[in-house]
Amino acid sequence: MKHFDVVVCGGGIAGVAASLAAARRGRKTLLVEKQSVLGGLATSGLIYIYLPISDNQDHVIASSITEELLLKCQEYGPFSLAEKWGGSASSFPGNARNSYLCCFSPAGYMLTLEKLVRESGVELLLETTVTGVRCDEKNFLREIEIFCGYEKENISADAFVDATGGAFVLRMAGEKVFPEVNYNNPWILEMNASCSHIYPFTGELHVQPLKKPEINGSMEQVLSTLELQEFIRRQYKVIRSYYDAMGPEERKTSYPVHLPMMPQTRKIARIDALAEIKTGEAGLYVEESIGVAADWRKSAPAWETPYGALLPRKTGNALAAGRCINSSGDAWEIFRVIPAAAMTGEAAGVAAAMSSEQNRSPAAIPVSALQHELRKTGGIMHIRNGYPFKNKGAE
Ligand SMILES: Cc1cc2nc3c(=O)[nH]c(=O)nc-3n(C[C@H](O)[C@H](O)[C@H](O)COP(=O)(O)OP(=O)(O)OC[C@H]3O[C@@H](n4cnc5c(N)ncnc54)[C@H](O)[C@@H]3O)c2cc1C
Repeated sequence: MKHFDVVVCGGGIAGVAASLAAARRGRKTLLVEKQSVLGGLATSGLIYIYLPISDNQDHVIASSITEELLLKCQEYGPFSLAEKWGGSASSFPGNARNSYLCCFSPAGYMLTLEKLVRESGVELLLETTVTGVRCDEKNFLREIEIFCGYEKENISADAFVDATGGAFVLRMAGEKVFPEVNYNNPWILEMNASCSHIYPFTGELHVQPLKKPEINGSMEQVLSTLELQEFIRRQYKVIRSYYDAMGPEERKTSYPVHLPMMPQTRKIARIDALAEIKTGEAGLYVEESIGVAADWRKSAPAWETPYGALLPRKTGNALAAGRCINSSGDAWEIFRVIPAAAMTGEAAGVAAAMSSEQNRSPAAIPVSALQHELRKTGGIMHIRNGYPFKNKGAE
């Protein structure tokens, strides 16, 4: 059986960041992704905006791999950072905001992410699904079962990162999770000569967000197979009904170019972790913070991230990263997006690497030691001065 220092499950933004972080520390790292492309929802879900890594006072609140992934998303596509942040765009397409963010071509970003991961020495298995786990009597995750083509294989590792977006691996390991309701408003890639594009590429190509459908008006949780299948079925229905409402002539100039290749669920499941990030904690000083996430929706203070939100309660040698960490309520809105996925992914990758190096469980790593390692590559643990802090002592 192959053994790795660190295995990262799921190659979305969180998984890419985690695998880069672990491999760059010299750990033998495997990244397993069930699709043939990297980026997860951000790329195959046709998302197109790397939301800001600046806060409401224009402080840069994330650096290191989170910033690197933002800068690199410009590589294959027509977009650029705003001039203010060193780019050449005079305005953000369709949006007056001037934050440290960037749009990207989902397909272009797939090319960049695959190159980045391979160049960093990560062993990459695409088109490979984690289908099972084996835990020992002390609740340490010893092996995962992976499936590719028609072959199954078991892989062991010192430490695992679950970056699957829905905590699928930790759920297999018996961890408790909490679901959330979702609404169905698909984003598709479309050619359209006549509409006023809010998410333009060049020419007539743009991302078209479709309104929440009247046909069901539902808010759904997507934890079970049945619920997920229903969500996908409705996603098709919404998209088809949008085009069916047009006449045949209009459909010659307004038509879909690409549909999301994974269900556009915002929140699937968050783990029951040692810490929880809750509604109302914006601007709060968190001593055990491993990174900062901006409020992408409005001008409001950023959020610090307690390390414990990445640590499942039972499984001794695993961490969660990305949109399945333990952020609830309003906090989940902040932590479910791309920059927060990159930030928590990087922290999880470094912690998993340290766990392997030191032969101790991620929960046993002193947070100050993890913070020290994260700072070495530019990591920002705390919000800068300028807010009415609820606790004092912030950097
Ligand atoms: C409609 C919509 C619009 C959005 N708009 C924005 C936006 O403008 N900007 C923004 O920043 N964010 C946006 N988001 C949110 C954002 O795109 C995602 O939440 C973020 O990309 C999540 O990253 P992640 O790495 O945590 O998870 P995911 O992207 O879900 O990655 C998980 C990966 O794990 C893989 N995986 C799952 N199970 C397994 C398994 N068993 N074995 C192997 N691999 C597995 C999946 O294939 C996937 O690649 C939007 C979301 C939606 C739905």
